[in-house]
Amino acid sequence: MQITFDNSYATLPAQMFTRLDPTPVTTPHLIAINEALAETLCLRMGDDPGDPEIAQVFAGNTVPGGAAPLAQVYAGHQFGQWNPQLGDGRAILLGEVLGPDGMRRDIQLKGAGRTPYSRGGDGRAWLGPVLREYLVSEAMHAIGVPTTRALAAVTTGEPVYREEVMPGAVLTRVAQSHIRVGTFQYFAARQDIGALKALTDHVIARHYPDATGPEDLLNAVVARYAALIAQWMGLGFIHGVMNTDNVSIAGETIDYGPCAFMDIYHPDTVFSAIDQFGRYAYSNQPGIGGWNMAQFATSLIPLMLDQDKAIETFTTAVNTFPDHYRAAWLSVFGAKVGLSKPVEADRNLITDLLALMATDRADFTNTFANLDQPNARDQFINRDAFDEWEKRWRTREPDPALMAKSNPQVIPRNHQVEAVIAAGVAGDFEPFHALLSAVTDPYADLTEARKKYARAPSKDEMVTRTFCGT
Ligand code: AMP
Ligand code: MG
Repeated sequence: MQITFDNSYATLPAQMFTRLDPTPVTTPHLIAINEALAETLCLRMGDDPGDPEIAQVFAGNTVPGGAAPLAQVYAGHQFGQWNPQLGDGRAILLGEVLGPDGMRRDIQLKGAGRTPYSRGGDGRAWLGPVLREYLVSEAMHAIGVPTTRALAAVTTGEPVYREEVMPGAVLTRVAQSHIRVGTFQYFAARQDIGALKALTDHVIARHYPDATGPEDLLNAVVARYAALIAQWMGLGFIHGVMNTDNVSIAGETIDYGPCAFMDIYHPDTVFSAIDQFGRYAYSNQPGIGGWNMAQFATSLIPLMLDQDKAIETFTTAVNTFPDHYRAAWLSVFGAKVGLSKPVEADRNLITDLLALMATDRADFTNTFANLDQPNARDQFINRDAFDEWEKRWRTREPDPALMAKSNPQVIPRNHQVEAVIAAGVAGDFEPFHALLSAVTDPYADLTEARKKYARAPSKDEMVTRTFCGT
């Protein structure tokens, strides 16, 4: 296989990463390869999709020519607690490629073995989180949410020891970069101004070429991150681990761990088994987003000559987060109810619908997907209340075409993802491929075959707890 690498992170100061190869595995088998994405990256794989060489590369057994494998160091606030030393503990960046679209992208193997940043971990991933991340990240991309992508998934033929013995797997992840808020925090905390400056220059050149300095960069990241979280909210998506080390500076959704889409709408929903206090509950996501941007701002302060003044201007920048978010939210939810130019008064119209949905335990995705259908009221217990709401809404002349492209029919529902993982563990990847093709065509009409993926789970089927990818 041929990959034309063009590595830039590897040229940055040496304290920013550790060079090392992935640890080989015994018997790699390809589960999936994302051919459309491979094309975007100009990967040359030959004509035989069954070529065992492909699995060797995406398991980390064969390091392709031109790669500069390394693990990146970072720090982060985990559930609000400062951790000065994190890093790629189970991921190895193979290198970067420049696509024909001019975009630089990282190719990273996740689950590729131990690194100096593994702490107590084994450096591996088991099949469950690999399949989950593949499905959810590709669904997010198809829906139109900025996200890391999945290029390939392989099984390793090796056991991974968690609460039970599980089959090991490696996910190949593609991202605009893997630079996080926590990457900045790591160098700021050590007062390593040289690395912090090099990182900032790298990020500006790579992701925000119009930014003229740290303040500009901060403003741009704040705007992108606020827009991203508004998109999550519009899907009922709960990231689950919005730690600062899981916040991409490029504004992509990254690190799909115990993430999930809500079935029944309720603003307090939490899925992650480790999120005891609901810090990352659905309705807390925008607030945490602002908090994360404050940590990013703090990490840029050491770069500034006049730090008192910088604290003032950076505070102003961080304080624009709620405004950006509110504007993005109105445009996201406006589109979902068919309003291309929502006005402030529409905010109440939308929150009134959400309040009805919460009271009546309506399915989030299906309520919006069917809002302009005669069966819309079936999602509600108090149908009169919905009818009243609908009357108000109809006076705004919603656009059905806008609604059709703003409300996915099919998302990777928890219970479906869990079923796919269970089948995969038993060696059957057909359900994975079927669900993948359904969720990567989210706005298409519901054919007979797709209906089962759109159906909300029954009470017995519903999955209300999800677990970390570790
Ligand atoms: P996450 O919760 O997935 O964002 O991971 C938090 C930190 O733990 C990161 O620095 C990971 O690299 C590290 N980590 C997670 N799982 C493992 C593992 N199995 N082996 C080594 N390090 C891990
Ligand atoms: Mg992480």
